[in-house]
Amino acid sequence: MEVLVTGGAGYVGSVVAEELLKEGFGVIVLDNLQEGHHDAVPEGAEFMVADITVRQELEKVFAQNRIDAVMHMAAETVVPVSMTDTTRHFRCNVVGGLNLLDAMLEHDVRRLIFSSSAAVYGEPQADEIGEDHPKVPLNPYGETKLIFERILEWYGRAYQLKFICLRYFNAAGASRRLGEDHQPETHLIPNVLRAALDRSAPVTLFGTDYPTRDGSCVRDYVHVIDIARAHILALKRLEDRSGRAYNLGSGGGHSVIEVVEVARQVTGVDIPAKVSARRPGDPAVLVASSALARQELGWKPEYEGLEGIVSSSWRWMKEHPRGYSR
Ligand code: UDP
Repeated sequence: MEVLVTGGAGYVGSVVAEELLKEGFGVIVLDNLQEGHHDAVPEGAEFMVADITVRQELEKVFAQNRIDAVMHMAAETVVPVSMTDTTRHFRCNVVGGLNLLDAMLEHDVRRLIFSSSAAVYGEPQADEIGEDHPKVPLNPYGETKLIFERILEWYGRAYQLKFICLRYFNAAGASRRLGEDHQPETHLIPNVLRAALDRSAPVTLFGTDYPTRDGSCVRDYVHVIDIARAHILALKRLEDRSGRAYNLGSGGGHSVIEVVEVARQVTGVDIPAKVSARRPGDPAVLVASSALARQELGWKPEYEGLEGIVSSSWRWMKEHPRGYSR
């Protein structure tokens, strides 16, 4: 089976492509290289530079390749950017997504796994968020993901499109070859590890006055390889699970301060940290219930501890202190 991975030169997309290849799928990676890295495209994948907001570029990809299914990860993802450059998020995540669906239908491709997000839920109203939790996004990024989920529901009915939405919580960690390299980096684990590499630049902890066990925010970190494997399980279960959305989390929360502590143990470095004000838009706790993905997809995260996740990121960062090819 030939799978098109949009955003396949990005952090999650490249690991999805890598896992697909390991399982014997044919892989075509599409990426505009705005955030993605050429060096992140796994060997064995066909690579095409294309932008999903440009319909003709998508057309070329579909015309030149046999495609049986799509895993859609190409997106604008930086939440603060979505607050100010809102049109950019809607254009890429909604208009680009529609372009993709149009190209798929025109070429009779009716299988899609969509990369959605915990951001569709907004402010948590429960300790563990289940898929039926109210969906009131706090930012345009989450709104675009929710809108596209809803578009998929209607396309599913009208055009017999089969799809599954996977709502990631905090993707983290690295595979042997592929890791996290954003510019600028906003995520906690790479920022903590960066401060272990360069002790002159402490990591900033955004708020220690939250109503949590140690005052810092709690998040549900899940290994990027486990996220990638969930995509493959979803593809395999598409016939009987189409139309569903599944949370991908590890089922446990870790505070920002706990992440720093684990990173200190893993690296053996007394990582310098400084406390600053809260970051706008951060809920105190975001933890998933992933029971449904376990039950219905047979998904079982392999990397359940934070230590394994942080160790894999640390190994990758030491091997790529300047990220991909910079
Ligand atoms: N965070 C932090 N310092 C950083 C980056 C993040 O204290 O340099 C905090 C952030 O405020 C949040 C948690 O770490 O509470 C996870 O943030 P991240 O950006 O990694 O993921 P998010 O949960 O926002 O998707």
